Amino acid sequence: MSAQNLVIEDQEYFRELKARKTFPLHLHWDGSVPVESLFSLTERRGKMIFLPDNDLNGERIRYDSFTQRLISTPEKLREFQYGLLTRYKMGDVFGIPISFMQTKEDLEEMAKALCRYLKTQNSPYTEVRFAPQYHLKKGLSLDQVMGYSLDGFIEGEEQTGVKTKLIICIARDEAPEIGEAVVKAALQFAERGVVGIDLACYEPGNPPEKHLSAFQLTFDTPLKRTVHAGEMGSEEENLRDTYVALTELQADGISHSRHLYQRYYQNKDLIEMMVHRGVRLESNPLSNYQFFIQNLEELHLDELVETELLVTVNPDDPAMWKHGDLVDSLYFLGKLYGDDLVRKVTANSVRAAWGLSEREKSGYLAEMVIN
Ligand SMILES: [Zn+2]
Repeated sequence: MSAQNLVIEDQEYFRELKARKTFPLHLHWDGSVPVESLFSLTERRGKMIFLPDNDLNGERIRYDSFTQRLISTPEKLREFQYGLLTRYKMGDVFGIPISFMQTKEDLEEMAKALCRYLKTQNSPYTEVRFAPQYHLKKGLSLDQVMGYSLDGFIEGEEQTGVKTKLIICIARDEAPEIGEAVVKAALQFAERGVVGIDLACYEPGNPPEKHLSAFQLTFDTPLKRTVHAGEMGSEEENLRDTYVALTELQADGISHSRHLYQRYYQNKDLIEMMVHRGVRLESNPLSNYQFFIQNLEELHLDELVETELLVTVNPDDPAMWKHGDLVDSLYFLGKLYGDDLVRKVTANSVRAAWGLSEREKSGYLAEMVIN
């Protein structure tokens, strides 16, 4: 479905990029644990995992044998995950990692596995997001899910040196009351590792204002607000949702906003609004390329970076598609627009981070100037 052929040819530049630190600010926990770690956890728990009953269109999939249906290797799990939204439904694909994030022990294991992955990505600081309401199937409360997750990430930091902060997502297809409950729980952890809230999942039919009441609970609190806005709709819808997220939801971060380069929604200058309030753009170019655009140029990131906007580049769900790692995105952007853009967006991520002290930021920024 994608027209541009993305291949890493310049190994020297790729190696150079891999040696640099990266700071992912937009990364979904359940979409980021490497298949090898996830598969190993299924084995240690003695649980078999299977391909789903139905395909993306709801048609029943015919399996000739038990073996054909059984996900018996990490490679088969990878192939399944790479079928996200091309062959399989979102709920079925994310359902597997989420099913191993339902108990204290599993949440801790998955947190440590993510930290190990982030260490391989040379990411000393990451903002990790997830929707806790999907993790209540075995009886944990929202508070417990958040608390155990934070414990796991603290242990992960001790083992790997990777510092993480959490962003708590509201699954936007849920009722507003659920969003409010999630935010109330998140507020209790505001000083203990949770840095913000997010509005995520299926955008069409679930505009930002649906969860305004939940977002209002964070006004005048330490929690920041980010919103998936302008990822899945038409240009008009995408710009509208971006505008509503900025004005009504008082967003501090905007995810995707694929048409932001158009700048205006009903004569309102969206970029000017974001610059004025220091709102960061969390772009996820390879994720967009996977589902919504044919060429990375369609995002006009070169033009956006030329403005004063805090443009950051992120992986979204690195385990869910080819070239999912952040360094791959940076490579393709570097080849397209030059290495200055890569350096600028990486420095922007440090500046826009919600869980780094000014001293830490200065340290990382100084290091970038030297290297
Ligand atoms: Zn996302």
